[in-house]
Amino acid sequence: MAKQDLECSFCGRKKPETNILIAGLDAHICDRCIQQANGIVLEEAGSKGGQSLSNDLTLRKPTEIKAFLDTYVIGQDRAKRVMAVAVYNHYKRLLQPSNEDEVEIQKSNIIIVGQTGTGKTLLAKTIARMLKVPLAIVDATVLTEAGYVGEDVESILSRLLQVADYDVAKAERGIVFIDEIDKIARKSDNPSITRDVSGEGVQQALLKLLEGTKVNVPPKGGRKHPDQKFIEVNTENILFIAGGAFDGIERSISKRLNMSAIGYKAAQEVDEIDKDNLLQYVTAKDLKNFGLIPEIIGRLPVLTYMNPLDTKTLRSILTDPKNALVKQYEKLFEMDNISLTFTDGALDLIVEKAIDYKLGARGLRSLCEEILNDAMFDFPSGTEDKLNITKTYVEGKLSKSRLNQLKAVS
Ligand code: ADP
Repeated sequence: MAKQDLECSFCGRKKPETNILIAGLDAHICDRCIQQANGIVLEEAGSKGGQSLSNDLTLRKPTEIKAFLDTYVIGQDRAKRVMAVAVYNHYKRLLQPSNEDEVEIQKSNIIIVGQTGTGKTLLAKTIARMLKVPLAIVDATVLTEAGYVGEDVESILSRLLQVADYDVAKAERGIVFIDEIDKIARKSDNPSITRDVSGEGVQQALLKLLEGTKVNVPPKGGRKHPDQKFIEVNTENILFIAGGAFDGIERSISKRLNMSAIGYKAAQEVDEIDKDNLLQYVTAKDLKNFGLIPEIIGRLPVLTYMNPLDTKTLRSILTDPKNALVKQYEKLFEMDNISLTFTDGALDLIVEKAIDYKLGARGLRSLCEEILNDAMFDFPSGTEDKLNITKTYVEGKLSKSRLNQLKAVS
């Protein structure tokens, strides 16, 4: 048969009438029919209650989610439980048939209050890793209201698209972690004094995104500009997790607790208050007092907190998580056939220094670098195949002046 006589086995168009004609074993298909067939496949998947979504998304039970989090994040039990439930419900919502007009499950966006370095970002990262969904980490401080210097809130979605390799469907069920949400608190109780472009204005702009809407996103980020092509992203199934230190929020919490303490049947409640960790009593009202607008709080309905890291937790962070720092260094040395070990005394001292110098969990890394740098330089070209890090070794490497420098950068 001559090439031009070939025809699409589905619609009968001759090869010259098509853009492309693909040959199968005994049949051919043209570009138009491929498109139509693709439409049918998508429609079919949609009517089966979003099963296409579920293809590579396994819904894990909250206990399983928590167990997975436990392997990477130490302590923070309350936050992990709350997040496990929120994530479970969120993805249940995604798998809910879209054409049923029954009960509509609302989004369970999360807000985490906790000092810096306590594992908020790590939690979000671990959840994204478990679900194998893209995660964009954005800093609320760079966002400004549209039209002002800074980034529009849409840039959050540009970031997510980039992480998802511009696969819109993938991005649309990803996770966005908005760090430092407390920095966009309303600056003053009186909203009319001046324009608050990096505070309330940004909160207003974020509302729609959090709730679920279709947004035209400039793919490469940056300012919207008329000649640029946009990609439409629907935020309806994106899980937003916001985190912030909310420095000083304890004042609002303790004031509220004291006020309720004056009330009836308060005596025994007062006794139970753990004054060293007031964040555990945080409520939406405290967030409002801090300067988040009620609409934002309403769209971040799951509120939880992180505990400050105590000695025991820091010590455990050094050695226990799946990719614990100590395990990482052991691995690095092992690649040069060197067996690296640490004595308990050495590990205790590292933790002690991290606490003394208020370096937190992030500081553990800088301390280990400081301690092991010389060895990592010399050992690969030396002859020794063992290195035991003792308390004395640590003391020798951590001079006071170096510690002060570490403190300055952390
Ligand atoms: P945050 O977002 O609260 O400021 P991060 O999640 O960025 O803190 O934590 C900084 C680093 O400290 C993490 O990469 C991790 O190595 C370590 N870390 C903090 N908290 C924990 C924790 N609870 N369990 C394990 N590692 C932690």
